[in-house]
Amino acid sequence: MIRIVCPHCHTPLSSAELEQVTINGQLNLVCPECSAVLVSEQQEGPEGHSIEEHYADDLAAHA
Ligand SMILES: [Zn+2]
Repeated sequence: MIRIVCPHCHTPLSSAELEQVTINGQLNLVCPECSAVLVSEQQEGPEGHSIEEHYADDLAAHA
């Protein structure tokens, strides 16, 4: 089981204790103590890849 310490209120939380909130179609795990968003699930798909490719292009341009 994954354990996460909230960086805001320092409460140790298991993944089961986190609140699941969907924002803009993305699942976010939210600290139940202070409501900070701890984890945003990235959608696996072409959009994620394009961001990585764009970042790689940026690095290549610098080199
Ligand atoms: Zn918290």
